[in-house]
Amino acid sequence: MRPAGLAILGSTGSVGVSTLQVVSANPGEFPIVALTGYSNDALLYAQCEEHRPAWAVLVDEAAAERLERRVRAAGLPTRVDSGTQALQRVASLPEVGRVMAAIVGAAGLLPTLAAARAGKQVLLANKEALVMAGHLMMEAVRAGRGELVPIDSEHNAIFQCLPPPDGQRAQGVRRLILTASGGPFLDAPLESLAAVTPDQACAHPNWSMGRKISVDSATMMNKGLEVIEACWLFDVAPGDVDVMIHPQSIVHSMVEYEDGSVLAQMGCPDMRTPIAHALGWPRRVASGAPRLDLVASTDLSFRPADTTRFPCLALARRAAEAGGTAPAVLNAANEEAVAAFLDGRLAFTGIAAVVAGVMDAIGPEPVQSLEHVLDVDATAREVAAREIDAATRAETPA
Ligand code: NDP
Ligand code: MG
Repeated sequence: MRPAGLAILGSTGSVGVSTLQVVSANPGEFPIVALTGYSNDALLYAQCEEHRPAWAVLVDEAAAERLERRVRAAGLPTRVDSGTQALQRVASLPEVGRVMAAIVGAAGLLPTLAAARAGKQVLLANKEALVMAGHLMMEAVRAGRGELVPIDSEHNAIFQCLPPPDGQRAQGVRRLILTASGGPFLDAPLESLAAVTPDQACAHPNWSMGRKISVDSATMMNKGLEVIEACWLFDVAPGDVDVMIHPQSIVHSMVEYEDGSVLAQMGCPDMRTPIAHALGWPRRVASGAPRLDLVASTDLSFRPADTTRFPCLALARRAAEAGGTAPAVLNAANEEAVAAFLDGRLAFTGIAAVVAGVMDAIGPEPVQSLEHVLDVDATAREVAAREIDAATRAETPA
C-alpha cells in the first residue's frame, strides 16, 4: 500500500489550484505533504495556511526566504526549502504516495522522473516531461514500480474509455481519437493570425489555463504534444492517434474499437473532473465541477483538423514519427518560441516557423540517456534563440 500523502508540484499554477479545490471538496481524504511553486510566495503562503503541508518549496531563493519568514511568524507546521533539488526531494519523500506533476514545461522533467523512480503514483499533467523523455519516464515508472495516471483531460478520458486495470492498450482498439477545441482562432481569417496579441491567444473559448498551454492550444501545438503523450501512455503508434476538432469541449476524447463501438467520456470543460478522477481512482470522488446539462449540450460537432491553419500539429506529428530526440527538440523550440511570443519578441505565426527551423537544423538521434536529452534540449534552445533573433530582425523595419 502506498502512503496517502500527496505532493503537488506546481501548486500555485492553474492545475495546482484546481487540485487543491478537489482536495478541499473531500475533507480528510487527500492529506497534503508538500506544495511547490516557482516564485509566487503570496499564493503559496495562503495555500500553506489552509492546507498545512509538512513542506513548501519555491525554486526562487528570495521568494522562499519571504515565505519562510511568514510561515515562521504564523507558527505554521511547514518547513520551507528552495531550489530545483528540493523539488526532487519532496517528490521522493517516503510519506508521499502520490505526486501531482503540474509544473509547466521542461522544468517538470527532473522532479517528475524522481517521483516515478521513487515508485510514486504520478498524476501527470506535465505532458512536456513525457514528450521530452517518454522512454526514460516509462522505464522509470516500471523500474520504480510506480504508476502513471493521466490528468490531461483527453488522456484521462481515454484512460476511462479503455478497460481496467491500468489503461494499457486493450485488445480490439482501432484508434484513439483526441478531441481539440481549436482554440480562439479556429475560424479567424488566416491573414489575421500574424498580428494576434498574447492576450488574444490566451483567451481560450472553453478552458481557463496557464499562459503557456493557452498559447499551445491556440497554435494546436498542445494537441501535437498530446499525440506524443498518448503514444507513451497507451503504447500506441502515432498513426493510431487521430485528432478531431470539437469546438464545444464536451467530449474529452474517444476510443474506437474493432467492432464499431466508439466510447467517449463527456463532461463540462473543467480540470477538476479529470483531477478528481485521478485522485480518487479507482473510486469516484466529488470534484466541485458543474454538472453537464445534456439538454443544453445538443450541439456536439466534429471536424478534421486543418494543418494549414495549424502547422504546429504537423510539426509535432513529424517529431512523433521520427522518434528519438525529435520530440525533445520540438518541445524545447516551442517553449522558447512561446516565451518569445508572450514577451512580444515574436509574432504568433513565428512560433511554427521557429519550431520548423530548429527541427530542420537538429536531426533526430536515438535517446542514449537523460544527460543526452538535457543536452539536446539545451542545444535546441540555443538554435531557437538564434531563429527568434533572426525573425525579429526580419520584422523590424530598417
Ligand atoms: P501554470 O503556468 O498555471 O502553472 C505552472 C506551475 O509551475 C506554477 O506553480 C509555477 O510556479 C510552476 N513553475 C513554473 N516554472 C517553474 C520552474 N522553472 N520550476 C519549478 N516550477 C515552476 O501552468 P498550468 O497549471 O496551466 O499547466 C501545468 C502543466 O499541466 C503543463 O504541463 C500543462 O501542459 C499541463 N496541463 C494543464 C492544463 C490546464 O488546464 N491548465 C490542462 C492539461 C494539462 P509560480 O506560480 O510560482 O510561477
Ligand atoms: Mg489536454
